[in-house]
This record gives sequence, C-alpha cells and structure tokens, in this order.
Amino acid sequence: MEIACLDLEGVLVPEIWIEFANKTGIEELKATTRDIPDYDVLMKQRLGLLKQHGLKIQDIQAVIATLSPLEGAAEFVDWLRERFQVIILSDTFYEFSQPLMRQLGFPTLFCHRLITDAVGNVVDYKLRQADPKRQSIRALQTIYYRTIAAGDSYNDTTMLAEADAGILFHAPQNVIDEFPQFPAVHTFEELKKEFIKASNRELSL
Ligand SMILES: [Mg+2]
Repeated sequence: MEIACLDLEGVLVPEIWIEFANKTGIEELKATTRDIPDYDVLMKQRLGLLKQHGLKIQDIQAVIATLSPLEGAAEFVDWLRERFQVIILSDTFYEFSQPLMRQLGFPTLFCHRLITDAVGNVVDYKLRQADPKRQSIRALQTIYYRTIAAGDSYNDTTMLAEADAGILFHAPQNVIDEFPQFPAVHTFEELKKEFIKASNRELSL
C-alpha cells in the first residue's frame, strides 16, 4: 500500500502567518524563522502580538476563514485521495489551519497544537515532537506503507529524503539547487504526473 504525504503551507495553502499578518495589518507577524532563527523565540513573539492586539482564537479563525487554498489545491487533493491514502504533514497548528482544512474537505492532518484558556486567549503552543515530518514517514514505514512525499521548503527535506520518493513542489530556486536529488515541479498537473511516476502501481491521470 502507498501513502501520499503532503506539506500544507506553500503547497496547498498560502503561508498562514504571512496572510494573517496581511489581513490584520500587524506587520511584526510577518517575521519568519529567516528573521528569528530560534523557533521558540519567534512563537513567543507571535503569541505576544496576538495578546497585545487582543486577538482570541475565535478572532484568528474568523480572519483565517477569509483565506482560500491555492488555486487548484482542493481539486488536486480530491484527485490524490482517489489514488492514495493521503496525510498532510505540517508544522502549522490545528487551531490555525482549521478554516483552510475545511475548504480542503478535512484530509488527515498531523501538526502541532495551540494552547488556549477558557475564553480563547492563546497562551502557549505545543509541538508534537522534534523533526515530526520525518518521524511520521518512519512510523508509516514500520507498518509497511510505501510513502511518496511532496513539500516546498527546508523543513520538508528530511521528510522527502526519508520517504520512498520525494518531490519538491513550488520550491524556491535555492532549495531546488541544494537538493538536486528530488524532482522539482511547479504546477498541480506536473505534481500529479510525479506521483504517478513514483507509484509502484499502474495509475492514470
Ligand atoms: Mg511549506
């Protein structure tokens, strides 16, 4: 049996924090791990900004509900689910991604969790485990699934390497240059063809 593992942000949906910053006009929320390499420091800053602007989880989800998946993403997920079991492996948070996952038909999602208090203030976050994408692939292999994975960035490369086949999708040129062992494609039509190529079954478009 084969499982398709997909990254979420940059592959199926836009970068959620960036879009959320655009929608709310809170410029400081655009900081990423490129600006603040320590993820814990970055997340503490983000949570501080949510608090400072009085944004509760309900407000955040209402803003994110105005975002849409990337064009063609929902149709691609439907196509993939007819041919593979599909799991989304993401570094996002369940509470953050939910409005976008709804628009994708709620495929299975492995990611992290935000901790909220009784009235919806975001007080902390909980990472599921270290190197979660790679660990998920390894876990699937222990129950004899063949895995094909696709992602767009550095945080996907250990997943792509661990999988039986790895595909770069929408990746920036520096990632493509650094990881020439993975095929790199930029449209959902090309991505479908790569999944068919990587499968050990006879599949058609
Ligand atoms: Mg991504």
